[in-house]
Amino acid sequence: MLTYPPRLRLANLPTPLQLLSRLSADMGLNIWMKRDDLTGTATSGNKIRKLEFCLAKAKAENCDTVITCGGIQSNHCRATAALCAKLGLQVHLILRGVSPESPDGNLLLDKIFGASISFVTDEEYRSLDELFERVANQYIQRGNKPFMIPTGASDEIGLWGYIAACPELKRDFEEKEISPDVIFTATGSGGTQAGLILGNYIYELDCDIQSVNVCDDEAYFLNKIGGDLNKWQHCFDSDVPVETLPINIIDGYVGPGYGRADEHVFDTIKRVARQEGILLDPVYTGKAFDAMLTELKSDRFAGVKNVVFIHTGGVYGLFPQRQNFL
Ligand SMILES: *Cc1c(COP(=O)(O)O)cnc(C)c1O
Repeated sequence: MLTYPPRLRLANLPTPLQLLSRLSADMGLNIWMKRDDLTGTATSGNKIRKLEFCLAKAKAENCDTVITCGGIQSNHCRATAALCAKLGLQVHLILRGVSPESPDGNLLLDKIFGASISFVTDEEYRSLDELFERVANQYIQRGNKPFMIPTGASDEIGLWGYIAACPELKRDFEEKEISPDVIFTATGSGGTQAGLILGNYIYELDCDIQSVNVCDDEAYFLNKIGGDLNKWQHCFDSDVPVETLPINIIDGYVGPGYGRADEHVFDTIKRVARQEGILLDPVYTGKAFDAMLTELKSDRFAGVKNVVFIHTGGVYGLFPQRQNFL
């Protein structure tokens, strides 16, 4: 059977599963949304599910400082900063980009939570392992015990977050008396999708897990997610046949680049806001939701009746991109 590693209960769970009724009527099928944007206020989004396991490990190893990394507007870094404050841990963020004159969105919150921040160039960020080592050494020299969490908490520990979300989804489906055909999500570092792939198999949700990549490409994520699934299997000695589980990436919607969206995405964000009163973000959920609406009209998803979109959060990412809504 499945033995979970230690977990801290930090997220507001279970999150609601809601039918987007007006949008569903427009589309001619049922679009359900799993509201993982409601896992917390400061900790809104998908990262807290993963961090429940990563931070439990940090605590179990008696670490007092957490080091992690991401873009300037990283939701993962903001959620980590908030949770470290709650747990009495120091936090150091390695952020890719230039320190702005007026911090906004997630970065502003990082500062409010008291995170130490190193801003690094794209060039430096390419040697991420070295950066981690350098920062860790600074803390070790001061007598601290650092714990490192990789990008997006997407490793064999973080994967457990969305494995654990699957029995929750199963109960949602039973309660609503639905058996969804497809679960859609945005993929940025792959841990959410990897967890869903495992949980879907283990808990027999019988769904097709489809992810829209918001950066890199299909080949990159097949390799990244495949690698993380293998590491998970080795680490936890599971008999899940990970090699046989499909990894479905819907490529072609990255648009102008990571963190940058075209007008179509902003129109979809406004549409969902105005039809459903729900905020998507321009970096992840807006892009993925927009892609999902396009894909649902294609032959690939013909005959599909119920789909679930995992709302993975990201609301604070709207503010630095305010010019697109004015
Ligand atoms: C990180 C993030 C994702 C992507 O999840 P991964 O597990 O990194 O692939 C999606 N949506 C939001 C809002 C995120 O912050």
